[in-house]
Amino acid sequence: MNTYRSPWMDEDLDLFRSAASRFVEREMVPHDERWREQKYIDREFWRKAGKNGFLCTDIPSEYGGGGGDFRHEAVFFEEQWRRGLSGLGQGVHSIVANYLLNHGTDVQKQQWLPQMAQGQLIAAIAMTEPGTGSDLKGIKTRAVSDGEDYVINGSKMFITNGYVSELLALVVCTDPEGGSQALSIVMLETTDLPGFKVGTMLKKMGQKSQDTCELFFDEVRIPKANLLGGIEGQGFAQLMSDLPYERTQVGVQSVAMMEGAIEETVSYVKQREAFGAPLFSLQNTRFRLAEAKTTTQVARVFLDYCIQNVARGELDNTTAAMCKYWTSEQLQQVLDICLQMHGGYGYMEEYLICRMYADARVARIYAGTSEIMLEVVARNL
Ligand SMILES: Cc1cc2nc3c(=O)[nH]c(=O)nc-3n(C[C@H](O)[C@H](O)[C@H](O)COP(=O)(O)OP(=O)(O)OC[C@H]3O[C@@H](n4cnc5c(N)ncnc54)[C@H](O)[C@@H]3O)c2cc1C
Repeated sequence: MNTYRSPWMDEDLDLFRSAASRFVEREMVPHDERWREQKYIDREFWRKAGKNGFLCTDIPSEYGGGGGDFRHEAVFFEEQWRRGLSGLGQGVHSIVANYLLNHGTDVQKQQWLPQMAQGQLIAAIAMTEPGTGSDLKGIKTRAVSDGEDYVINGSKMFITNGYVSELLALVVCTDPEGGSQALSIVMLETTDLPGFKVGTMLKKMGQKSQDTCELFFDEVRIPKANLLGGIEGQGFAQLMSDLPYERTQVGVQSVAMMEGAIEETVSYVKQREAFGAPLFSLQNTRFRLAEAKTTTQVARVFLDYCIQNVARGELDNTTAAMCKYWTSEQLQQVLDICLQMHGGYGYMEEYLICRMYADARVARIYAGTSEIMLEVVARNL
C-alpha cells in the first residue's frame, strides 16, 4: 500500500479538498463537454466559484481573498486537473491577483482584488505577441504617455481567458530605449473599452474549454493610475519576481494529471480483458504502470517541496524552472504509457486519457518552454 501523504496537507486543507472535490464534481464535470464545444467556461461559473470561496484563495482577506496560501490554490487546481478539467483559467487569474498583491498600489489592490476574488472580474495576463514569446524583451505593444493617460497600440497572441476576461494585466513597452526598464504592466478593464478587440477563439489541439485568443489594441486610452505599482519600467522585474509561482502551477497541473491518468488506467486495465484475462494480469501492463507510478511519485515529492516553498515565498527561480521542466516532460511519458494501455479507446476523445494526452502537450510550451527552463537551470550550473 502507498501511504505517502503530501507533507503540506493538514486537517484544514483536508476539509478544503473535500469541499473543492464536491464543487468540481457538481459544478464542473456535468458541463465539461458543453464547455469544450463552446471553447470557454461560462462567466456564471466564475461568479459561482468566487462566491463559494475557490478564487484568490491565497489573497489576504483584507482584499477579499481566502486568506490562505499557495497550498489552497494547489488543492483546487489538483481537483480539476486530475479529472482532466483543463478549461478554467484559474492559473492566470491567480497570477494577476498575485501581481496586484505583490506590486500594486494599495488603491489598485482595493480596486480590483475583491472583485477578482468574487469572480466578478475575470483576469488574464497578456505578454506574448505574434512576433515574440520566449524573448519578452522583443515586446512591441506600445503605451505612449498623453497627459494623464496612456495610449496603447499593438496586439497580443495566445491569451488564456482572452474571451471571458474583463481585467487584463497587459505588458507594454513604455520606453523603447529603456533596456531592462523598457517594459511596464498596465491594468485594463476591457468591458466596452474603445479600441480594444478580441479576435476569434483559437482552435487548439487540447484544453478545448479554455478560451485562448488574440487581442488587439487600437488607440486604447487608459488612465496612468492603471500603471501597476505606479512606476514606469518595472514590468520586467515584476514579471521575473513572480515566475516561481507561475511555474509551480504548471508542476501542479502536470503531477495532478499524471496521478489522475494512472488511477484511470489501472481501473481500465483491471476490467478490460484480452486473451481470457484482464490486461492487468499481463506483466508488460503491470511493469509499465509500475514505472509510470514511480515516475509520478518522484515528481510528487519534488513538487511538494516546491509547493511548500512557494507557500512560504521562498522558491528560487532555478528550482521552479526545474520543477516546470521536469514534471511537464514526465507528464508526456506517463500519459503515453497510459494511452497505450487503453488501445484504440485511448485515441477516442470521449475517453479521459485521450483528452489528457492532448491537454498535456502545451505544458512543455506555455509559462516558458522546456528549452527556456533548461536555459535558466544551465545559467546557474
Ligand atoms: C494554450 C496556450 C496558452 C497560452 N497562454 C498565454 C497567456 O495567458 N499569456 C501569454 O502572455 N502567453 C500565453 N501563451 C504563450 C506562451 O507563453 C508562448 O507560446 C511561449 O512562451 C513560447 O513562445 P512562442 O510561442 O512565441 O515560441 P518561440 O519563442 O518562438 O519559440 C519557438 C521554439 O524556439 C525555442 N527557443 C526560443 N528561444 C530559445 C532559446 N533562447 N534557446 C533555446 N530554444 C529557444 C522555444 O523553446 C521553442 O521550442 C500561451 C500559449 C499557448 C499555446
